[in-house]
Amino acid sequence: MRATHVVLLLSLSAAPALAQSNAALMANDHYTRSHDYDLIRQRIVVSGFDWDSTSFQGSVTTTLTALRPGLDSIILDEGALLQNTGVTDARGAALRADHHGDTLVVYPAAPLKYGDTLTFTIAYQGRVKNGDGLTFITPDGLPHRPRQIWSQGEDHNNHYWFPTYDFPNDKMTWELVATVPKEDMAVSNGRLVSDVARGGTRTLTWSQDRASATYLVSLIVAPLVRIHDTWQGIPVDYYVYREDSSRAWPLFHVTPEMIGTYSRLTGVRYPWAKYAQTTVADFFGGMENVSATTLVDWLPDARAYRDRPWYQWILIPHELAHQWFGDYVTTENWANMWLNEGFAEFMPGQYWGQELGDHAEQDYYADEYRQYLQIDHRRPMPLASLGSNNIYPKGALVLEMLKHYLGPERFWASIHTYLERHATGNATSDDLRQAVLEAAGENLDWFWSEWVYQAGYPQFDVAASYDSTQHQLNLTVKQTQPDSLKADSTGLRYSVPAAFRMPLTVRVGTAQGDVVRRVEISARDQRITIPGVMSAPTMVIFDDGNRVLKSLNFEQPTAWLATQLQRDPDLWDRQWVIGQLAARTTDSAAARALADAAGRADYYLTRAQAAEALGRFPSVALPALETALRDTSAAVRSAAVGALGEIGGAPAIALAKRALAADSSYAVRAAAVRALVQADSARAREVIVTALAQPSYQDAIENAALRAIATTNDTSFIAAVDSLSATKQFPAFVLAALGARGNAHALELLTRHLDDDRAAVRRWALQAFRFAMPRPVALSRLQGAVDGLTHPDARQAVRDAIQQMSTQRSGS
Ligand SMILES: [Zn+2]
Repeated sequence: MRATHVVLLLSLSAAPALAQSNAALMANDHYTRSHDYDLIRQRIVVSGFDWDSTSFQGSVTTTLTALRPGLDSIILDEGALLQNTGVTDARGAALRADHHGDTLVVYPAAPLKYGDTLTFTIAYQGRVKNGDGLTFITPDGLPHRPRQIWSQGEDHNNHYWFPTYDFPNDKMTWELVATVPKEDMAVSNGRLVSDVARGGTRTLTWSQDRASATYLVSLIVAPLVRIHDTWQGIPVDYYVYREDSSRAWPLFHVTPEMIGTYSRLTGVRYPWAKYAQTTVADFFGGMENVSATTLVDWLPDARAYRDRPWYQWILIPHELAHQWFGDYVTTENWANMWLNEGFAEFMPGQYWGQELGDHAEQDYYADEYRQYLQIDHRRPMPLASLGSNNIYPKGALVLEMLKHYLGPERFWASIHTYLERHATGNATSDDLRQAVLEAAGENLDWFWSEWVYQAGYPQFDVAASYDSTQHQLNLTVKQTQPDSLKADSTGLRYSVPAAFRMPLTVRVGTAQGDVVRRVEISARDQRITIPGVMSAPTMVIFDDGNRVLKSLNFEQPTAWLATQLQRDPDLWDRQWVIGQLAARTTDSAAARALADAAGRADYYLTRAQAAEALGRFPSVALPALETALRDTSAAVRSAAVGALGEIGGAPAIALAKRALAADSSYAVRAAAVRALVQADSARAREVIVTALAQPSYQDAIENAALRAIATTNDTSFIAAVDSLSATKQFPAFVLAALGARGNAHALELLTRHLDDDRAAVRRWALQAFRFAMPRPVALSRLQGAVDGLTHPDARQAVRDAIQQMSTQRSGS
């Protein structure tokens, strides 16, 4: 699963409460569900979908074997809204069954012996609360929004639309037979067995012949066209709306090569019968349903590729990686979910590294690092813990660190062992450690203890002094990470290691060449001596190559930093140096070093970061920023425009205006909107009007203008914002922001949208109340409005929201 950044942060703040008592225990089997049978196969037959009542007809035939003698009752998960119309055995004889809440108990005619096989069929009238298991979408007169249905199983939602064992530790094969209106396509897992038209309908049968987890069962019903591609004879299909046909190939055609790279790196050939990627509306990002990934329908246009769209850089390779990590080998329980998500987040960096080189790989993980620090700052948690907030970025970073520690050969051999040993099965965190032990011969108990089962990361405080008589460099290295996490209500308390243990390299630059020394970090407080430094250092790099996930506090002369910025190939190191230099706003040598990097660094990210930092040097930055504005990379130009907004003044404003009018990148133009509003507040209105009229991918430019309206609190735009909120979500958030600042008219308009005829508009308005307004303000407004709503769904949705908001823990 991969959410957009915004949604990801929202869902993280709602992480479930924890109830475990021991980190290592829960990371392994503590959270695994016991079950009395082994699910073998299900045949899921669905038809008669009705969008108004979110209902359908269902029938599921289940084959399982007993895992204990005398098994006289079979317990399945089945949503309370599914109404069974009959349960029969393989010969058609009725079986007794009880359906209470979300649990179904089926009683076999006679108790099963250990290992006995039972097949039975449950016929039911299906109905879902829209969004639980299945999401029914109506066009609502909105553009780019055909009528459709999509399923979403992870973590525990597939039982809302078919009875099954809804936990990841019992894999099965399955067949899915869907009868849909003849103009629609039904996409599911595995190979397409048949596609038969009959009257006004069409029946498609898909068969998933290799076992996988039940939360990965998927169904999408929508009018879609198929763009066909292949990898080594395996169908690779892209299902999109007809109007998106021309955008599909440039976006998705990277897939076969990614499949090849992942197959080669892991030594495990892509394991499924086909790979489909299907786009749908209102999706949170992507979901790795086995062999049939579901993705949001935000296909980039041609111009958007100048801004390296997230969709291709992360989303596609992330979901593809899950086909190995998550679908082929699956976490045994949700406390080890980082085995799914950490690997899926790690693999795209490997792909881009193979494709584009080391800098692209470092670039990828630098972004993960930024995300991780933000999350850890809110609450440090172990990777292996239920509801862990950092499994994506920290998982990726720890795996990259492990790869560097072991070296690629031993690392990939270990991954191969892990995948093969648990193929079409489940694994826990310790199984991965065992695979390393087997393939690389090394017991990484200490590494798992520090990085998987405990929280935090080393926070280094380093000081250097040169001893010219002994010709040595003395370093004091302190680890300052606090271990002050509090226990929660269950008594669970996460620990942070007092001292992380890791080998790393110190590189000392001198006039006679570099002195490079491998050292072992193992204590909270440590002295390190680097001998053979024959003349005064010109730079000192602590952890050369950035092999350890860390923060670093290391006061150095500007001259050292400037030398490192020129010489150090590592992007994290450079970013750290730029941060140091950016703080020295009165130091002309620091400004010179940044200007030099902004114009000449060999990778765009460094140029962009240096250009951004120049915004803090208003008296000298302009010439360097003018150069940066001509950079071939849109990210550098964006950063330069942002810096122009910081320094202000007529020449900067003129340059930013030119970028808004003429730059070929959406991101640069959006940055220009922000810069101009910041630097020239008297003319903000004019800029906003211009920007609102510029179409862009994902409304990047328009949204920059809307943000400006919210931040400048310019209520003269309320009518314009309101008219936009009839077709998209973000303007509703702006109304909420204006309303929260006391604008009654904005609040009135937003309240009216709660009662709109269109489900999407109602939902956006309600989300705006919930996520873009202080809770007490939103609650009182919703409570005041609920009884006046005329749309029955609207009243119910607002009531549900009020209840959830009232019971939400403050500060969670
Ligand atoms: Zn994922």
